[in-house]
Amino acid sequence: MSDPVLEGGCLCGAVRYKVRFNTPYIDYCHCVMCRKSTGGLAPAWIQVEPADFTLTRGTLGVFVSSPKASRHFCTRCGSQIAMTYPAGRSTGITVATLDDPEAVRPTVHGWDSARPSWLCIADDLPRHPEDVPYDV
Ligand SMILES: [Zn+2]
Ligand SMILES: [Zn+2]
Repeated sequence: MSDPVLEGGCLCGAVRYKVRFNTPYIDYCHCVMCRKSTGGLAPAWIQVEPADFTLTRGTLGVFVSSPKASRHFCTRCGSQIAMTYPAGRSTGITVATLDDPEAVRPTVHGWDSARPSWLCIADDLPRHPEDVPYDV
């Protein structure tokens, strides 16, 4: 059976994408940079091989948010679609921009040390105080 292909896009529709989903890593990230760059609490990310993410409409702007990561977003409406890391690491796709977020389910929390104390997500998923070790 081939891997499922999920589709998504930005708020205004200028950017559309497909992502081939074959990874067990879907992480909530509570870090300050994910919070501020998405404008949302606890954005969740599907981590895939870079080649498994394909833009099918439009182009993405890029903001280098740290030496570790770049943020890719619609330059018209601002929706953050993806995060890329230095060579050899996964590409993160925002679960919030999937057409059907029910198609996936988070598997882990990252940067739980930065989660606001009043934000309680009641699950039994593993919680890492800082980065999730995607590559292991
Ligand atoms: Zn847009
Ligand atoms: Zn983060």
